[in-house]
Amino acid sequence: MENCLFCKIAKGEIPSQKVYEDDAVLAFRDISPAAPEHVLIIPKKHYDNILQLDDNALLGHMFEVARQVAQTLGIDKTGFRIVINTGKDGGQTVEHLHLHLLGARELGWPPG
Ligand code: AMP
Ligand code: ZN
Repeated sequence: MENCLFCKIAKGEIPSQKVYEDDAVLAFRDISPAAPEHVLIIPKKHYDNILQLDDNALLGHMFEVARQVAQTLGIDKTGFRIVINTGKDGGQTVEHLHLHLLGARELGWPPG
C-alpha cells in the first residue's frame, strides 16, 4: 500500500534492523524500544490491523516467527510478551498489522 511505513520497510525502501525475513514475514527492531529487546513482526502483505486479516495460516506463521526470534534473542528463557495493538484505544499508531515481541526486562501488568 502506498504511503504505508511498514510496506516501505517490507520492500526495503526504508531501512530497518532486520532480525528475520522470509517470503511472507519480516521481523525488525523497533526504532523506539519499550524494552531491551523489542522486535516488530509484520506480514509483507498489507493489512490495516488484526480485524482486516483474513489469513489464519499467516497469523500462525507470524506467531511461529515470534517464537523463533524469542529463541534467537535468548528471551525464551526469561519470558516475553507478544502484543497486537489495534485501533485508537489499543494504541495502534502504524496502520499495518504488526506483532510486538518484548522482553529482557520484567514487564508490568496491567498496561497503562
Ligand atoms: P503501534 O503503536 O502498536 O502501532 O506500534 C508501532 C511501532 O512502530 C512503535 O513501537 C514505533 O516505535 C515503531 N516504529 C515507528 N517507525 C519505525 C521505524 N521506522 N522502524 C522501526 N520501528 C518503527
Ligand atoms: Zn502497509
